[in-house]
Amino acid sequence: MKVLIIGAGFGGLAQALLSAKEGDEVLVLEKNEMAGGRSSVYTEGGYTFDMGPSWYLMPDVYERFFQEFGKDPKELFKLQRLDPAYRIFFHDGKVVEISADMESNYRLFDGLEDGGAEKLKKYLEQSKEKYDTAILELLYRDYSKLSDLLDFKLMKQGRKMHMFENLDSFVNKHFQSDKAKKIVEYSIGFLGGSPTNTPSFYHIMSHIDFTLGVWYPEGGMRAVVQAMYEMATSMGVRFHFNEPVTGIRTEGRSVSKVVTDRGEYTADVVVVNADYAHSELQLLGDRDRTYDRRYWEKKVLAPSAIVMYLGVDRKVPELAHHSLFLDQDWAANFDQIFDKERATWPSSPSYYVNVPSMTDPTAAPPGKETLFVLVPLAPGLEDSPEIRERFYQQIMEHLERTLGTDIRSHVEVKRLFALNDFKERYNAYKGTALGLTHTLRQTALFRPVHRSKKVRNLYYTGHYCHPGIGVPMVLISSQIVNGLLKECKCEGVADG
Ligand SMILES: Cc1cc2nc3c(=O)[nH]c(=O)nc-3n(C[C@H](O)[C@H](O)[C@H](O)COP(=O)(O)OP(=O)(O)OC[C@H]3O[C@@H](n4cnc5c(N)ncnc54)[C@H](O)[C@@H]3O)c2cc1C
Repeated sequence: MKVLIIGAGFGGLAQALLSAKEGDEVLVLEKNEMAGGRSSVYTEGGYTFDMGPSWYLMPDVYERFFQEFGKDPKELFKLQRLDPAYRIFFHDGKVVEISADMESNYRLFDGLEDGGAEKLKKYLEQSKEKYDTAILELLYRDYSKLSDLLDFKLMKQGRKMHMFENLDSFVNKHFQSDKAKKIVEYSIGFLGGSPTNTPSFYHIMSHIDFTLGVWYPEGGMRAVVQAMYEMATSMGVRFHFNEPVTGIRTEGRSVSKVVTDRGEYTADVVVVNADYAHSELQLLGDRDRTYDRRYWEKKVLAPSAIVMYLGVDRKVPELAHHSLFLDQDWAANFDQIFDKERATWPSSPSYYVNVPSMTDPTAAPPGKETLFVLVPLAPGLEDSPEIRERFYQQIMEHLERTLGTDIRSHVEVKRLFALNDFKERYNAYKGTALGLTHTLRQTALFRPVHRSKKVRNLYYTGHYCHPGIGVPMVLISSQIVNGLLKECKCEGVADG
């Protein structure tokens, strides 16, 4: 079978590998100059930046993915568990670390509130239980059939999984202190949500970061991309870079050809990894869209971001590999991201700083540091070089004040990547960095489908689909599509 994949992000790479393993002839058309999508690489002046993901979480999911090919991730890239996992700077000057050693985390929580250790234990037990159920019953399944929508067991599961309560309310029942609450709530940022718009089921994120741990693949996330790319080419997958798809044409109910500026391609099956909204609205004709423009207008988008890639000519030991700076007025900050009426470049945001060169000497020249500063922003905001520069100064002023050290005068490489870049580089709808947020109405069966409802041999994989945002989720998304393709092969529909 000929499979054509549009986009070489993690979703496209995973799909290419899975299809190649099935013996399919696979071609990947990618708009940009390299594989990885959001996980692209930027190099300047001896500094190397992973442009997107920096947290290797859910190692079990990577393991399960690579097992499909008889491989252990550790054979492909060296993995190191980070300790501390991350450092948190609170607005009042308090600094805490989440450790790989749980006893130390229990002591930390005891210091934050009465019975903190016991409360954390109980919280993590629940989180583990939900995670195990999610992995077994929810994450790896497709929800496109009507029977899935009516699945009584699923509804019961939804209740059991606390789908109908928001994370903030759930956390408030477990912890009293502002700091303990923020520590267990911040991880929802990985899913591009806020504690009030995300179902409490997602407190599984605490099991993920506390218990399963925060890992670093030597060479950065680009090492994971590289491993997948090399595996794919060795399995015969062909990649065309710098070749954006400009149209998906259909005849009857099937894709007849995929069009680029360089040519036209035919395939038995087309899998879209490119931005879902972009692909539906820009590449397909009206009648071939599963979702119309109004559908996308109404969706709650995950944040966009400004990412500052900074090459600094000195070490910055005040930071950890991962550092979080949490704002005092948490709720107002989330409003500035999610409330369309109040969306604006934030006045005192929470933000994240990653220093991979602390763990990985290949990231920066000796004695120097590679800094990645990420501030979530509302998608659709006005963006210009002047606004970015003002915001850079604002954030760096805060960072320097908090750390009590000068960084700006040591910056020798600087690239500010924000809303318009997400649109231009990744065709991201309204400049979202992460796709669709995980509200209840955008979770599991309510996320955009993996298989087009209009075009028989057209499929979608990536962060817009179930199970959602983040590299591990995107790998699962392609495993789901692969299952659907196998079913179709059996039924002979893919050829239709
Ligand atoms: C700044 C940032 C930090 C993040 N941090 C983490 C983290 O620490 N850990 C984690 O697990 N996840 C993280 N994520 C999320 C994670 O990166 C994404 O969920 C995941 O990489 C999305 O993969 P994807 O394949 O769905 O989409 P993408 O990576 O966007 O891939 C889609 C591909 O399609 C291509 N494309 C678009 N239009 C066309 C077209 N017309 N023709 C051909 N190709 C096209 C794009 O160029 C791109 O290569 C982060 C994301 C960002 C942006």
